[in-house]
Amino acid sequence: MSKQQQIKAVRGMNDLLPPESALWARIEGICDELLGQYSYRRINTPVVESTALFARSIGDETDIVAKEMYSFEDRNGDSLTLRPEGTASCVRAGIEHGLFYNQQQRLWYRGPMYRHERPQKGRYREFFQLGAEAFGWTGPDIEAELIGLTDQLFKRLGLEQTELQINCLGDAAARQNYRAALVGYLQSFADQLDDDSKRRLDSNPLRILDSKNPDTQALLVGAPDILDFLSDTSKQHFEQLQQYLAELGIEFTINPCLVRGLDYYNDTVFEWINPDFGAQATVCGGGRYDHMVEQLGGPPTACFGFALGMERLVQMLQEQAADISQIIDNPDIFIVSIGNSARANALLLQQSLCREGVRVQLHCGAGSMKNQFKKADASGASLVLVIGEQEVEDGTVALRSLRQREEQQIIAQNEAVIAVTNRLESL
Ligand code: ATP
Ligand code: MG
Repeated sequence: MSKQQQIKAVRGMNDLLPPESALWARIEGICDELLGQYSYRRINTPVVESTALFARSIGDETDIVAKEMYSFEDRNGDSLTLRPEGTASCVRAGIEHGLFYNQQQRLWYRGPMYRHERPQKGRYREFFQLGAEAFGWTGPDIEAELIGLTDQLFKRLGLEQTELQINCLGDAAARQNYRAALVGYLQSFADQLDDDSKRRLDSNPLRILDSKNPDTQALLVGAPDILDFLSDTSKQHFEQLQQYLAELGIEFTINPCLVRGLDYYNDTVFEWINPDFGAQATVCGGGRYDHMVEQLGGPPTACFGFALGMERLVQMLQEQAADISQIIDNPDIFIVSIGNSARANALLLQQSLCREGVRVQLHCGAGSMKNQFKKADASGASLVLVIGEQEVEDGTVALRSLRQREEQQIIAQNEAVIAVTNRLESL
């Protein structure tokens, strides 16, 4: 096949290869376990949804709906979209299956999301999110629970240098008043705004606060502060959340410019940010979105949730060389065998060892003793079991260390499993 014909992965979509796949699996395992410990239960929804779901929930004026969605017509002419995020699907599924009628739900999901963005480090067109959503609680306690959960998760993973920022966007009236004040302020600088922000001045001025353009950020220094527009209820709610976070020993800063990329939030929003990652600094973000369930046709339901970007999380762990990022999925032991009878013994031993939880790599195919030992070395295993003709005849195996200078041990075949597990334990 000529070079031109070679088919590559779609731009912005990644293959996950070994050994990094082992790191992902370990991280996912830790996430799943923690979510279960906090009583969150898994929900899976399809990758493809009706386009209308996202248009209605996320908001037409958001970057996602305006320019990032992978939407297409299927063979029936229905407009479908590869999900750009997971919350809308959770809400849709919850309504469809009656999960919100006189019930509270703690749910979590993980899976691929799709956004047509310019690919760069930490920003892809297919990326993975882990998300959790709590349905049916109005107070700041559930918010502290979920923020506390993310804090615990980062501690378990060993993620450092990540700061928590929180803000309160208030209720609809507060946002409306604030919006007017912000537009009034920004209009006097209209000629200095970039095109995106100019457009948003009419359509979605709060999003200007989220601008990544340093010139725009500089203009915002003197802008009115949303916290001055909050109702007493919102203020008390926000203060109680801060108290809970303090009790949990979680440090945070209040960032009045934090609005999040999606339109659906009210009151509390938060982000975990690693400042070393430029425009891809946010590893996890979330907030309260009390109106979405109703907007999509369900009963009024308070909601609070977050989404965490797995690629960014993995990169941050790798760049700070966290212990967990050293994980690789090497076998514990490699089995060298010469001849069909020895190979049959090797296959049986592999079965028995795997049953005991040992990770075993078997040499398959032809190969001299020397060649097999090279492979054993390259496998990263710490031990090697050797079964040659002599061993078959004697009913034995030879056990050797690949990393330490030690005499090899000759063991009866029926004692090999116990000998190997003992050796592995003593390493
Ligand atoms: P950003 O401001 O970085 O574009 P966002 O506000 O669009 O982020 P959310 O929709 O809140 O992001 O998604 C939650 C998390 O998912 C983000 O904080 C980030 O970690 C991750 N994420 C979002 N978009 C991408 C992407 N294109 N590639 C990789 N990860 C992403
Ligand atoms: Mg974005």
